[in-house]
Order: sequence, then C-alpha cells, then structure tokens
Amino acid sequence: MLLITIDNALIIMIIVIFVTLILIFLTGNHKKLYIVREFYSLGTNNQLKVYGKKATKAIEESIKKVCEIDNKMSVFKEESELSKISINAGNKPQIVSNDTYYVIQKAIKYCALSKGAFDITIKPIVALWSIGKEGQQIPSSNEIKEKLKIINYKDVVIDENDKSIFLKKKEQEIDVGGIAKGYAADKVKNVMIKNGIKSALINLGGNILALGTKIDGTPWSVGIQDPFNTRGEFVLTIGVINKSVVTSGNYERYFEVKGKRFHHIINPSTGYPSESDILGATIISDNSIDGDGLSTGVYIMGVEKAIKLIEEIEGVEAILITKSREIYVTSGMEGKFTITSQDFVYKNGI
Ligand code: ADP
Ligand code: MG
Repeated sequence: MLLITIDNALIIMIIVIFVTLILIFLTGNHKKLYIVREFYSLGTNNQLKVYGKKATKAIEESIKKVCEIDNKMSVFKEESELSKISINAGNKPQIVSNDTYYVIQKAIKYCALSKGAFDITIKPIVALWSIGKEGQQIPSSNEIKEKLKIINYKDVVIDENDKSIFLKKKEQEIDVGGIAKGYAADKVKNVMIKNGIKSALINLGGNILALGTKIDGTPWSVGIQDPFNTRGEFVLTIGVINKSVVTSGNYERYFEVKGKRFHHIINPSTGYPSESDILGATIISDNSIDGDGLSTGVYIMGVEKAIKLIEEIEGVEAILITKSREIYVTSGMEGKFTITSQDFVYKNGI
C-alpha cells in the first residue's frame, strides 16, 4: 500500500515537472516568435516580419496603408489620383492627397539629381513595352521616337498651395512605380513604431526596410541578389539596423528575344531598357523613398556617374554590381559587407 503511494507520488511529480518544462519551453519560444504575413499590393508580393505584442494589429494597419497608397498611385486603376493627373494632362491641374503630392515632389527631386535618368513621365514608353505584362513586345523604333517627345519631368508642374499636379502636354503620364514602394515602406515603418514595435523586417517587393535589430540584438542580414543567378543566390550580404536597402535590377521583370534580355528599367534618353554597365544597383539609406528614387536612376547612370552622385549625398551609400561581375561600393560601405559569391571581384574605387 505504502509502496503504491510512493509510486503514485513519483509519477505525479514526474508529470508536474514534464508539464512545467513544456510550459517553460512554449512560453519561452513564444516570446521569440515573429509574425510573418505575405500580401499582394503595389503590383508585387510583399512580406512583413514583425515582433512584438501588437504585431498583428500593426500588420493589419500596415496592409491597409499600403493598399491605400496603391489605390491612390496605381497607374492601372482608373480611379487613382495618378490616372486623374494623366487624364487632365495638357488641360488642367489635378488636386491630390498629401501622400501623392509628397511622392511626386520627392520624385521630381530625384529626376533632377539624376539629370533625367530617373524620369517619372516615362509612363508612355513603359506602356509601349508592357514588360512583365500580357502583350509585352519590342516596340518599333518609330513608336519609341514619337513617345520620347513627350517624356520630360520638367513638364510636371506642382503647386504646394493647393497640392495640385499638372502635366503641361496632352498624353503625358506619370509613373511612380520606381519610387512608390519606398514611400510605402516608410509609412509601414511609421505604423510599426506607433504600435510600439521595435523589431521588424519590411519587404515590399524586394524593397527592404529594417526596423531595429533582430530580437537577439544582432543586425538584420540582407542579401544582394546575384543578377546572373536564380532568385535567392547572393553576391554579398550586409548587416543593417534601422536602414533601408533597395535594389533595382535587370532580373526583376523582363522578357527575352533571341537570347537578349529586355528588362523594365528604361533609359529615358533612348526609350530602350538601360544598357549601362550596371546590372544591380543597391542604395542603403535611412528612408526607403530615397533609396527607391535613387536606385532606378543610378542603375541607368552607370558606375562612374552613380558613385560620384551617391558620394555627394550625406547618409546614403551604394553597392553596384556590373556586367563584368565587379562590385563597386561608396566609401561609407567599405568593410560593412561580406562577399558570399566567388564569381565576383571587389573593386576598391573607380
Ligand atoms: P522595381 O519596381 O523592380 O522595384 P525600380 O524601383 O527600379 O524597380 O522601378 C522600376 C519601375 O519604374 C518600372 O517598372 C517602371 O514602372 C518605372 N520606370 C522604368 N524606367 C524608369 C525611369 N527611367 N524613370 C522612372 N521610372 C522608371
Ligand atoms: Mg526605384
């Protein structure tokens, strides 16, 4: 009788210890879990990886904000503010929301800084190519020549007082596809901060914005895509804390004809996909709108002009991957990355 009781007590003790261990394990682990959500908006796949008590709420609010931006700035939605600006081109100014006004005035700054390599009036040419869409094709050189006549960001008139945008010539259209994801990422970061989130990785179609560090206190590691390889194969990785990492690459959207790749970054001075020596242009900055606005233009400018421009901008760095498998970086990036592919050569200075 006594023996059985001891046995029982032992079993109960073992069960209690076991259950306690499971509970410790579960709650301990729970604390370390990120909530990961994927969603489609801005014409691309997006992912939010968020840690914190209010992660779910922050994610819901973020998705709402991104979709709101998409509704205002999509060139594919007839009711968007961008579409309305284009409909009124050559006719009258269109009053827009603060979001759209902010993006367009920032974009114009980057058009000027890149001396027109980045040009938000590129839309009529982008539409001719339809890259990544049904009907993608090589347009005739005549069609391109015709449309090039109306590509000029200097024809965008902005009015700070009534927050209106006016395109001087009929048939001109604005495309903020080269900068809107950056703006949206910055807005998501604000939503996260408002919800007390200290650790998150915001990925809007490859536009990365790291908030804080990982929960173990180490920097977020971001890989820079190998333009010659399949997605997920990196040239190098960088560790970042509170930084945006944005890349424009020839592998994002393209089609091939007789082995030649036609990608979605168009050189506004030729009307054809950019053929500079760059295949991947990464910008590291505090705000993602700056990284996005600069990465597209810098891609077109080529290594020499790109490095010169980025060196002049305080707090912004660049990593450029070239056709001849070289890696160029601005001075602030030296020693801050790890090359992970042996197929590329690091060039120190141009
Ligand atoms: P992604 O959209 O792949 O992240 P980018 O930020 O470089 O890459 O933007 C490319 C998009 O910008 C194109 O899909 C097009 O809508 C638009 N675009 C293409 N060429 C230019 C250009 N020269 N200036 C401004 N926008 C451009
Ligand atoms: Mg861009």
